[in-house]
Amino acid sequence: MATPVFRFAPSPNGLLHLGHAYSALLNFDRVHEAGGRLLLRIEDIDATRCRPEYEAAIYEDLAWLGIVWETPVRRQSEHLADYRAALERLTALGLVYPAFESRAEIAKLVAARDADGSWPRDPDGAPLYPGDAKSLHGEERARLIDSGAPYALRLDTTAACRRVSGLTWNELGAGPDGEHGMVAARPEAWGDVILARKETPTSYHLSVVVDDAHQGVSEIVRGRDLFHATSVHRLLQALLDLPQPVYRHHALIRDAAGRKLSKSDRATGLRELRAAGTSPAAIRQLVGLG
Ligand code: GLU
Repeated sequence: MATPVFRFAPSPNGLLHLGHAYSALLNFDRVHEAGGRLLLRIEDIDATRCRPEYEAAIYEDLAWLGIVWETPVRRQSEHLADYRAALERLTALGLVYPAFESRAEIAKLVAARDADGSWPRDPDGAPLYPGDAKSLHGEERARLIDSGAPYALRLDTTAACRRVSGLTWNELGAGPDGEHGMVAARPEAWGDVILARKETPTSYHLSVVVDDAHQGVSEIVRGRDLFHATSVHRLLQALLDLPQPVYRHHALIRDAAGRKLSKSDRATGLRELRAAGTSPAAIRQLVGLG
């Protein structure tokens, strides 16, 4: 049997906190249990928010926790050509269209359609894309592109779901409502997600799917906040003929008030805890790994 491959995939847009420690340690423990390999991936496509000093801090904090990963580390910013190629495949299938509305225009359209509060929202609570860029005439599209207008490249999710229906995944952990085992993917709940922008040939969804396949990741251990995003990932995997990993979504570590941890909250930052004399073994205890 092939060696199972795991990955921890933080974004270097802040310092790691207890929630990251939990996710990284769970991956590390699974690697040992399964006799697998652990990869580290730096998800740094958002150039406006990612910083080299945060990437350096990720290596330092993970090593301090006792986590060992394979090198070289994959940094997404170095693989834009891979994402562009995947985007071109989806475009060739006729499943991608440019949408030119600004954020403010989108907010206005939503407000107009949501007068009675019935405009659908995605699993994260954001309104679905309300525009009709999908039906723009070719000439108008070409004119807008030639004018240099900014745009987002969106997936025609309805058409995509027609091509590959009945998608599922094997959930070894649990979703927010206790979903476990074979789960039905519902990508249509996300509407026409953004796959790329004029200046950036990728998005979180596209790069995560391309990278997991490229790196041969077989079991994805990550926070439950990404459970519903898995529906989009399964759709992209099916459209791009990529292998299907199994997923293990884990509970999120919360602060004393029950809120999701944030990178700006100092009380739960690994740096602060370390400076205050907390040991790696105590971090394990704090996240309930004993
Ligand atoms: N980069 C994402 C994050 O830091 C995780 C992506 C994933 O595990 O799929 O939240």
